[in-house]
Amino acid sequence: MGRVAIITGGTRGIGRAICEALKADGLTVVANYAGNDEAARQCADTLGIHCYKWDVGDHEATLAGCAQVARDVGPVDVVVNNAGITRDATLHKMSFDDWNEVMRINLGGCFNMAKACFPGMRERGWGRIVNIGSINGQAGQYGQVNYAAAKSGIHGFTKALAQEGAKSGVTVNAIAPGYIDTDMVAAVPDTVLEKIVARIPVGRLGQAHEIARGVSFLVSEDAGFVTGSTMSINGGQHMY
Ligand code: NDP
Repeated sequence: MGRVAIITGGTRGIGRAICEALKADGLTVVANYAGNDEAARQCADTLGIHCYKWDVGDHEATLAGCAQVARDVGPVDVVVNNAGITRDATLHKMSFDDWNEVMRINLGGCFNMAKACFPGMRERGWGRIVNIGSINGQAGQYGQVNYAAAKSGIHGFTKALAQEGAKSGVTVNAIAPGYIDTDMVAAVPDTVLEKIVARIPVGRLGQAHEIARGVSFLVSEDAGFVTGSTMSINGGQHMY
C-alpha cells in the first residue's frame, strides 16, 4: 500500500484530477467533499477511491474526519488542501457572511487539516502538504476581497508552516493556479471570461490535470528539497 493522501474537495474539478494523478503515482488516495453526494459517488466508482464527507471549515469535523481516515486507511502522509469556494461581490455589496464563509473554508480549512495531520507527519519524519492558492491571491481581483485575502493568506501560511516542518522531513508548498476550466470558472459570466482569457499569454484556460501534475511532483519523494515554495501554473498570466 502506498503513502496515504487526503485531497480536500477531491471529488470535482482540480481536486478530482489530483486524486487521479496521485492514484496513478501509487498513493492510497482519499477524497474529502462537502455535500455533493452524486459527484462523490461518481468519483468513488470511477477512480476506485474512498470519499469522506465533512466541512473542512469545521474544526471538530475535520479532526474527526481525519481520525476516521487514519483508522480506515492508515496514518496520513500527504494532505492537499484544495477545497475552496467563491462568494464574489464588490466590497460595498459583500456581506460579512460572504467574507467569513470564504475565510472559514478556504483559509481555515488549511489550518484545520494541518492541526489534524501535521503532528503525525512530524512524528513519523515524513510528510507533504500542498495548499492550493490562486493567482488572485497573488495579484488580487476585482470583486474578490474575501477570496483574494484567503488565498493570499494561504501563501503566508505555507511559508510559516514550511519552517516548522523543515527539520522533520515535512515539506509545505503551494500551487497558485491561474484560470482552470472547472465548475468554479463555469460560474463566471462569458463576457468576463473572454476578457480574462485575453490576458492569458497561452490564450486558453488551464486544464485540471495541468495542476495535478504539479501536485504530483511536490508530494513525490524527489521533492524533499522543495519547501515554502509557490508553483505558479497559469499560462504565463503572472507576467502581466
Ligand atoms: P470546484 O468548485 O470545481 O470544486 C470544489 C470542491 O471543493 C468540491 O469537491 C467541493 O465539494 C469541495 N468543497 C467546497 N467546500 C468545501 C468544504 N467546506 N469542505 C470540503 N470540501 C469542500 O473547484 P475547483 O476545482 O475549480 O477549485 C479547486 C481549488 O482550486 C479551490 O481552492 C479554488 O479556489 C482553487 N482555484 C481554482 C481556480 C480555477 O480557475 N478553477 C483558479 C485558482 C485557484 P462538493 O462537490 O461536495 O461541493
